[in-house]
Amino acid sequence: MKIVVLVKQVPDTTNVKIDPKTGTMIREGVPSIVNPYDKHALEEALRLKEERFGGEVVVISMGPPQAIRALEECRAMGADKCYLLSDRRFAGADTLATAYSLGKAVEKVAPDFDLILCGQQAIDGDTGHVGPQLAEYLSIPQVTYVRSLTVEKGRAIAEREIEGGYMEVEVPIPALFTVTKNLNKPRYPTVKGIFEATAEEYPVLTADDVGAEQERIGLKGSPTRVKKIFAPEIKPRGVMIDGDVEEQVEQLIKILSNLNLV
Ligand SMILES: Cc1cc2nc3c(=O)[nH]c(=O)nc-3n(C[C@H](O)[C@H](O)[C@H](O)COP(=O)(O)OP(=O)(O)OC[C@H]3O[C@@H](n4cnc5c(N)ncnc54)[C@H](O)[C@@H]3O)c2cc1C
Repeated sequence: MKIVVLVKQVPDTTNVKIDPKTGTMIREGVPSIVNPYDKHALEEALRLKEERFGGEVVVISMGPPQAIRALEECRAMGADKCYLLSDRRFAGADTLATAYSLGKAVEKVAPDFDLILCGQQAIDGDTGHVGPQLAEYLSIPQVTYVRSLTVEKGRAIAEREIEGGYMEVEVPIPALFTVTKNLNKPRYPTVKGIFEATAEEYPVLTADDVGAEQERIGLKGSPTRVKKIFAPEIKPRGVMIDGDVEEQVEQLIKILSNLNLV
């Protein structure tokens, strides 16, 4: 069985700040990590390979050259092949152009795939678009928000999370699944795996390598435009005042005096 896993390198969002002037993310000094949901996708692919079907787990990531670090982590976890899709011409891609570019990479390096696994969303962009858009591009069935996956010959049965419960969906494979954190517990890479993974070279594919049409990639191929981006203003927490009316008035005056409002 050939399983493709899509992995995005993202900034560790607990530290992310937005530059109020340019509206762009301040990336300096912010560590990058593998998108957490994608680790669950990779874990599931490895589990299906090791426990049921054998075969190959192929990881593809699109991003700048430093996204190689994400591939190293995936390789150290046990992925068989890892590819980076990287080209200046991909810059400015919205989710549609990203999904198209990743689709071209899948057609190039793993056209005979049985499953594609993605995270339910990237923790920076947060749209959850890329998986479904890629399934549309490849004209294959998709199941989103998967919390359990059983694969049989020619078909897969997935439980997808919905509000207050779950829905069981059966699809023929090849198919694409986006996964939640309830699916499994990702393994830690072994020390040996980390050493081997960092010593390896990973193929870097350009737009020409995957035969991507110039009109469909990067800013040029993106029908959406970000008009404004800003961090919401953080307001101080409210204070509850207890007691009878006189006590409450007393406390209120104290609070307002501290704020220099009376
Ligand atoms: C107009 C516009 C311009 C943009 N310009 C830029 C830019 O210049 N530079 C930039 O970095 N971003 C840019 N972005 C953001 C970029 O489009 C998104 O980061 C990207 O399309 C993925 O969307 P997302 O983060 O919402 O992922 P989601 O759709 O939430 O991700 C779902 C899953 O898809 C897979 N996935 C998503 N992205 C990738 C990837 N790159 N590689 C492998 N797997 C992936 C992962 O499995 C992930 O869990 C731009 C967006 C817009 C709308």
